[in-house]
This record gives sequence, C-alpha cells and structure tokens, in this order.
Amino acid sequence: STFEALGLEETLLQAIADLGFTAPSEVQEKAIPILLGSETDLVALAQTGTGKTAAFGFPMIQKIDAGSRRTQGLIISPTRELCLQITNELKLYSKYVKGFNTVAIYGGASITDQARQIKKGAQVVVATPGRMKDMINRGMVDITQIDYCVLDEADEMLNMGFYEDIKDILSNTPEEKSTWLFSATMPKEVAAIAKKFMAKPQEITV
Ligand code: AMP
Repeated sequence: STFEALGLEETLLQAIADLGFTAPSEVQEKAIPILLGSETDLVALAQTGTGKTAAFGFPMIQKIDAGSRRTQGLIISPTRELCLQITNELKLYSKYVKGFNTVAIYGGASITDQARQIKKGAQVVVATPGRMKDMINRGMVDITQIDYCVLDEADEMLNMGFYEDIKDILSNTPEEKSTWLFSATMPKEVAAIAKKFMAKPQEITV
C-alpha cells in the first residue's frame, strides 16, 4: 500500500517523502485507516521499532486543529528518552503543518521551562507520568479539553509502577475523547486498563 492510499493529506505526505519512508509499515497500514475514520478507541499490540509512533502520530496530526492553540492530544510514555524520541518524530512529521506545536514534559529538567513552552501553545503534549501529574497539580497544563490520548508502551508503564499516576492523569481528561493504547505485550494488567478506561476499542496486532 501507499501512505496516500491510507488517507493521509499532502502536508504529511511531503514530510514522509522528506524522511524517505517509501511504504507504510504493518502497524501503520492497520492503524492509520482506523484512526483517520470515525472516532474510536484502539488497542494495538505492537513492539518498538515497528513504526508505531507514526501509526498514532500521523492520524493525530491530521485530525488536530492546528488553527487552535488548545491542547488537543496527550501522549503518555514511560521514560524521558521515549518522550523525547516521540516529540522529535512528531515535530518532523508535522513540519509542514502551519502552527502545529508539540511539547515534551518529563522529569529531571526545569519544570518552569516546560511550563513556559506549554504556555506558548501546544496542540500535543508528550509526557512521562510523574512530571505530567506534577504539572497538572500546579496548574501548569490544561488537558481538560483533549480529544486524543495515547498510552504508549502501556505494559512498560505498568511495570514501572505508574498505574496510579495514569489513573490520576486520565481523571483530568474529558470523558468524550478517543484513547489509543499501544503495548508490546498484553498481560492482564494492561487488559484491565483497557477495560476500565476505554469504550469498545478496536484491536490490532502486528
Ligand atoms: P518506532 O517503532 O515508532 O519507534 O519507529 C522506529 C523507526 O522507524 C523510527 O526511526 C521511524 O522514524 C522509522 N519509521 C517509521 N515508519 C517508517 C516507515 N514507514 N518506513 C521507514 N521507516 C519508518
């Protein structure tokens, strides 16, 4: 298949061409048409290195209103490294989308600098659980109007003991949103999260 056939628009296709991606990966072929379609929750069983960041990133970038500065997408990931990696990828993918801004929030760096970046307007926030909770509690970030929430490497986040943080973060998001969960494995704890926080998710496996 081609990225064009999956329904991606010109701004994204140009960025994809710049990156030299010639064809969609399996997880992209399966996830992108679902996520570009009508709003739905999704559970995707996919390892790192399969192209999963673009699988949720492309549809999120395409669906978000870059004309509004409101935070519309939240991506929660287990580590600072992954958080920065996702942010860098989203910046590359959205480089031709005027006004689109992605900000990374993670521990071990200045919280005031991160708050300042958020204040400038970030349609997408990519965060580690602990720092995210901290910034919510200090009123530094508003996720009460998001439309999309990605739980990336959900199995890793639960292994690292982030269940309570994730629960607290999600309690600050609207009921009406789409949640996309990505995980390399599906232990019963991850299945329980999907059951508790998601509504009739579509499921894909790669
Ligand atoms: P990820 O699984 O999201 O960590 O992606 C792994 C790597 O594959 C990243 O460096 C991406 O830039 C790259 N990548 C993602 N999708 C494609 C694609 N369709 N073709 C070639 N490389 C890709």
